[in-house]
Amino acid sequence: MHLCQRYNGVVKWQYYLAAGLIGLCLAACSSPAPAPTATPEPTATSVPTALPTPEPTLPPTATAIPTSPICTPLAEHQISALLSLYLTQPFIAPQGANKETGHHGLDFAYYSGGPSGGHINGTPIQSVLDAVVAGAGYNAVYGYYLVTETPWARLPQGAAGLYGMAAGESLYLLYAHLQHPAPFELGEALACAQVLGYVGDSGDRFFVSDPHLHLETRVGASGLRLDPMAYYAIEATEEQKAEYLRWRTSDDFRLADPAALLGLAP
Ligand SMILES: [Zn+2]
Repeated sequence: MHLCQRYNGVVKWQYYLAAGLIGLCLAACSSPAPAPTATPEPTATSVPTALPTPEPTLPPTATAIPTSPICTPLAEHQISALLSLYLTQPFIAPQGANKETGHHGLDFAYYSGGPSGGHINGTPIQSVLDAVVAGAGYNAVYGYYLVTETPWARLPQGAAGLYGMAAGESLYLLYAHLQHPAPFELGEALACAQVLGYVGDSGDRFFVSDPHLHLETRVGASGLRLDPMAYYAIEATEEQKAEYLRWRTSDDFRLADPAALLGLAP
């Protein structure tokens, strides 16, 4: 038998078999379908209430840190008047390698007018910036003093640039020769223009003669706190001397001219 004939025979056989199967299938499919079971009546459902409309949300924005204004350190007097009329000793940078030389701040002293009657003694001293208390105490050089800290991010616009400051640094201000001990705790917040003491002449007679405000500025890492500091006195302890030198001559703080900050005041 020829191969093609055998193939045709197989094909035919397969054809008959497939046709039979299709017939069986059609017969099965045409048989009556089973009676549908009763569809359960839908139970009453509560009317869906309207879904609450979500509140529109605003895209998150960076939390703005309010910057501090600049306030006059002496109540009753504009900063411009202080700088032009009552500045009795300017800032003098240390000369040479000895960082203790020079005049590390500004002195505001006698004046000829003003509501206080011509004398600066007893004039309320105000915080120049929003700040926190970073140190307080008494020593021969400063008398009763207060040190405040204002972080870089809280400084008025332009101030950080004036002092070459970077993020993570703070501006520290020292107010000296107060009449009384500063009544604040370390870390306590002070608002710009908040009274922190009164002009006096506290301190050793070798360093202070007449009532005046000595205002000092330094830059350092944020969060520094000063323990009581003292020097040039027999009773000064080694710890107090070390703290004085940390403030005055170490690399923890770099000295700056307060007039630059006050010059930013409107
Ligand atoms: Zn001074």
